[in-house]
Amino acid sequence: MSNFDSVSLVQKKRTNCCTNWGNEMPAEFVRPHVAQIGYRSGELFVEQVPVRAIAEEFGTPFYAYSATAVRERIEMLRDALKPADVRICYAMKANNNLSLLQILAGLGCGMDIVSGGELERALAAGVPAQRIVFSGVGKSKQEIKAAVAAGVGQLNVESTEELELIAKVARNGGKKAPVVLRVNPDVDAATHPKITTGTRHNKFGIPYESALAVYAKASKLSEIDCLGVAVHIGSQITDIQPFRRTFERVAELVGRIRAQGNTIARLDLGGGLGVSYDGGSGIDIATYGANLRETLGDCGCELTIEPGRLVVAEAGILVSEVLYNKAQGGEKFTIVDAGMNDLMRPALYDARHPVWPVAEPAAEAVAEPCHIVGPVCESSDTFGKYEQLPPLASGDLIALGVARAYCAVMASSYNARPLVQEILIEGDRYRLARRRQPVAAMLKLEQAGEWIAP
Ligand SMILES: *Cc1c(COP(=O)(O)O)cnc(C)c1O
Repeated sequence: MSNFDSVSLVQKKRTNCCTNWGNEMPAEFVRPHVAQIGYRSGELFVEQVPVRAIAEEFGTPFYAYSATAVRERIEMLRDALKPADVRICYAMKANNNLSLLQILAGLGCGMDIVSGGELERALAAGVPAQRIVFSGVGKSKQEIKAAVAAGVGQLNVESTEELELIAKVARNGGKKAPVVLRVNPDVDAATHPKITTGTRHNKFGIPYESALAVYAKASKLSEIDCLGVAVHIGSQITDIQPFRRTFERVAELVGRIRAQGNTIARLDLGGGLGVSYDGGSGIDIATYGANLRETLGDCGCELTIEPGRLVVAEAGILVSEVLYNKAQGGEKFTIVDAGMNDLMRPALYDARHPVWPVAEPAAEAVAEPCHIVGPVCESSDTFGKYEQLPPLASGDLIALGVARAYCAVMASSYNARPLVQEILIEGDRYRLARRRQPVAAMLKLEQAGEWIAP
């Protein structure tokens, strides 16, 4: 018996609100909603591999990823965009494990990168430089040099100062730089403020009003191949209207650029396609594809999209072991061995990941609402309060679901906790895709001055 308030797992909707970007607290235990992740004979599996077996072999915490789910997302996207010929450049900031990049390169995807480090990773994964798009509001001179030297297919420029620097780098390197102007369309994506990028109050892009003038200027620079326009209005967008409005703004701009006497051959429509974190609905990919075709399908430009989250988010979990339970202020706290340094989204964005016990909860199990918290010495190291979990005891395993986008990539070694390990699974095969960073390796990078006594 437990000391904590209990409610039935199938208890009906509560009116509690939670900080899930406006979503209501799920009334029932949220079950896995991705085909490749779910319960089989009472145990959580990723594809054909039992999560418990991975935990026994590698220890917790770890991310476990489904390769098949990613392949399916790419196929779904391609189907939804047909018959338009739209290039997919995966935004690798969502998850950049080499194994994932290799899978996507193998599927013919390009990459949207935002740093010199991502450039190195993309090239190391075998992505042809021509298929790399370099985005980002603050590219350094070093990064621009490396990108131009590698021969990336496109640099997305976000300011006139950046344009001038790229021209200078290209001149010194004796190469013409392929450039697209990232325009800020001033469309509110109606998503979380920290992941909204397309309004005039954000740092991103060239203001829509200045776009024509900057485009004319770029078209005249002899070191610059001014190819087109890019937009990206934010992330985790589940409503079609902001996309529709953005596509219309872009179509209008294409007309004005041509009216001005300049050529435009390329449109980069960014990412932002939202997924489901709770089994509800993400963006409807078919509707997205239809709107894209209707607004821009016959504008005579080569089209690219840069989805990140949509490609990977649902295809992974973070597995953690319950360390302790305790009661505090009349509430139950369940302390697990994964922390905010392993999965930062709840602390950073108030995001909420579903919790799936690795042992399937019995239908008649009685819920014990609890706060799932990590071991890091910060009050923000909490994954949230969960109303519908069965009793969890020390040694039990849980999975935080929908944890492949903006999760492992944001991990840090705060509290000297090693960077978290990642396991890739496909069918019945699995591989340690990134091993846990040894503390000794961190120590090797550090030294005290010789004047400091050991
Ligand atoms: C982050 C980002 C993306 C990907 O966003 P998602 O919401 O993950 O699809 C695409 N393009 C640019 C320029 C970005 O900054």
